[in-house]
Amino acid sequence: MESKRVICPVCGDDLGPAQPFMSTLTGCRRCRVWVNNAGEIVKDPHKHFKQWMEQKGSKRKVKQQGGQAA
Ligand SMILES: [Zn+2]
Repeated sequence: MESKRVICPVCGDDLGPAQPFMSTLTGCRRCRVWVNNAGEIVKDPHKHFKQWMEQKGSKRKVKQQGGQAA
């Protein structure tokens, strides 16, 4: 499979390889925007990060409930 790249939709710059998680944002330093893995501008990264942290938190809870040592 080809490795996906994150392209800035504003300037078309290659921002690097796409991260494995949809919620990971890549920033364009030139345009100062955040771009998600789908190549879309995220206008409210704070809201996005908050959702992402909540998702992480819920996953962590599930792991703790399992009680398995990694
Ligand atoms: Zn850009």
